[in-house]
Amino acid sequence: MAKAITSSADGVSANFAALAARIATLRPGADQELVARAYAFSLQHHQNQRRRSGEAYITHPLEVAAILAEMRMDETCIAAALLHDALEDTPATQEQIAAEFGPVVAHLVAGVTKIDHLDLAGSGPDRPGARQAETVRKMLLAMVDDLRVILIKLADRLHNMRTLRHLPPPRQQAVARETMEIYAPLAHRLGMGKVRGELEDLAFSYLEPEAYAQVRSQVESRRQVSEDFLHQVKARIEAALADLQIPCRVEGRIKRFYSIWQKLRRQESEIEQVYDLLAIRVITGSVRDCYAALGIIHNTWHPVPGRIKDFIAMPRPNGYQSLHTSVIHESGQPFEAQIRTEEMHRMAEDGIAAHWKYKDGGLTAEAEDERIGWLRRVVEWQQEMRDPGEFLATLKVDLHPEEVYAFTPKGKIIRLPRDATPVDFAFAIHTEVGHHCVGAKLNGRMAPLRTPIQNGDIVEILTQPGHAPSRDWLGFVKTARARQKIRHWVSAQERAQAVDIGRRALEREARKRDGGLRLLRDADLAQAGTEYGYLQAEDVQAAIGYGKISARQIFGRLAGDRSGPAKTPRLPRPVGGEGAGPILVRGFHDLMVYRARCCHPLPGEPIVGYITRGRGVAVHAEHCANVQNLMYQPDRRIDVAWAPHADAPQPVRLRLHTDDRAGLLNAITAVISASGANIGHIAARTGQGRATIEVILEARDLPQLEGIQSGLKAIAGVHGVERR
Ligand code: MN
Repeated sequence: MAKAITSSADGVSANFAALAARIATLRPGADQELVARAYAFSLQHHQNQRRRSGEAYITHPLEVAAILAEMRMDETCIAAALLHDALEDTPATQEQIAAEFGPVVAHLVAGVTKIDHLDLAGSGPDRPGARQAETVRKMLLAMVDDLRVILIKLADRLHNMRTLRHLPPPRQQAVARETMEIYAPLAHRLGMGKVRGELEDLAFSYLEPEAYAQVRSQVESRRQVSEDFLHQVKARIEAALADLQIPCRVEGRIKRFYSIWQKLRRQESEIEQVYDLLAIRVITGSVRDCYAALGIIHNTWHPVPGRIKDFIAMPRPNGYQSLHTSVIHESGQPFEAQIRTEEMHRMAEDGIAAHWKYKDGGLTAEAEDERIGWLRRVVEWQQEMRDPGEFLATLKVDLHPEEVYAFTPKGKIIRLPRDATPVDFAFAIHTEVGHHCVGAKLNGRMAPLRTPIQNGDIVEILTQPGHAPSRDWLGFVKTARARQKIRHWVSAQERAQAVDIGRRALEREARKRDGGLRLLRDADLAQAGTEYGYLQAEDVQAAIGYGKISARQIFGRLAGDRSGPAKTPRLPRPVGGEGAGPILVRGFHDLMVYRARCCHPLPGEPIVGYITRGRGVAVHAEHCANVQNLMYQPDRRIDVAWAPHADAPQPVRLRLHTDDRAGLLNAITAVISASGANIGHIAARTGQGRATIEVILEARDLPQLEGIQSGLKAIAGVHGVERR
């Protein structure tokens, strides 16, 4: 690994030289020229920038590149690591990087920049928290199409964690938590044991400083003893294997602080009882030698029953292979031995990065298969303790995403179905944002509202107060939530318009009748509306606006209920659709229906319907003289029938020719009232000893009307009763 980098210009270039030397050693044949150009570009673009520590900014990309070089990553990945902050922090553009370093490098840098925009652990109420961490990790895997993006991001995070002390404490906590919840488990999942271990220990030291200090002091107080012990054991194993001419490399190590702490917490035990506090690693040349080494170790010390594990025969789901055993030293000190080949060792340390042995210039089909296989195992692993149904669903999400993850400019994650649009995104944030959405920026650029959102897009919704959803949006939104909100808004809007139209129609009608003097009270409207199944005044207004009933009809209803103040009453025209009124038009719900003024058919009378131009269906009594004339156009005839319960009283106008004498009006009203019918209006015109009396009454049906008519004819002084 490259040494710590100083801020002097000389120090910086010296460390680039060190990087180049490591690449030459670990990956001979790598394109050093590409790496050198990337370094020069990064140096120039970050030249006036410093880190919080005061160091030149370039130290950061250099260290990140060095971490990846140690994992033997290819030159494309290392060049991208050197450039990884150029898009975010310098004027350089993706196009420029593509032009200078090729599309793959540009793609990797853009991918890292995308992840940088996320505040995955965040703070405040949006903080994903441990329960959502799994989702976030899946999302990270789903949103990158090139795993090198994740590897660069992990190296970036590792260096940032190493230098975290320079940030202000609240930021330290947020970054450390994000590392513990998201990045360390991600490294684990990718089999990168070394990165995971270091990330965990660093995050642990910030998140649980007291526990960290305690574990650390316990380990430190034993360090000298532990190291002497490990040294001695190591020498004995080396000697024993050398006797059998088994080539090997032996390393001793003290378990990491964070895993010690976890073990202490889990087992509620003392540090002395942790079997694998001290561990020996034996790295051999072949699988056969691994088993031979295991035999030698078991010959030398007593194995602890139940702690022998053969991960060579049965690898862990993330690909980890090793033989594990715990033995008791003659001093009583337990220790763990891990035995593996050189290749298994690299896999255990660098995980998926160890798979990056391919040359640049496109992966072979085999290599691609291997990588997909990796992803599959990664997914399987994260599912190992869950139910198979969920496992399959997740597999689908990760390998064939049905979902996309997009982000607010502040990094909040919004999960959407595939092909969701900015309108879906807006409604997912908040209903108001959806309502006032006028445009959207995807990754900083204006985009049409119907643009499908891609994984990792940063979506900014532009809003404007007073702006309203459009019915057209229903044509492209993908989420049920957006669809429902838009529908709701559109119909509420249409209703508001209908109410407005209805209110005006009522006002117009009122002016026509009373010169505008009579205003309808809401209670009156509501009462009139009950006849048509509406409960509220506003429902009545809306019904008029939608054309289901007419303002005149409402006034007529009101006139029927009151003793009529109107000067020259016209016969109100009842209207009804199916269910709403007394007349059914077969097969239609919303047709305007009214009884023809010439004959005013009553329930029970044979009727015919006639489609007028623009006023709905006129319903005539079959015997009406006009019907014969109208029916020249048979295609305008329509079947109508009385509703089964058409017993709502209907207005009928009668004209009576009488003598002009006192008490006659009383006799007339008495007859009508006795029949149970309401009188809507009654007025008399007199002259030369004669009178003409106009009566509007509400008759339930034909028999009732006929009863009234004969009753009236029987009154002395009444000469004729005419239905008008
Ligand atoms: Mn960075």
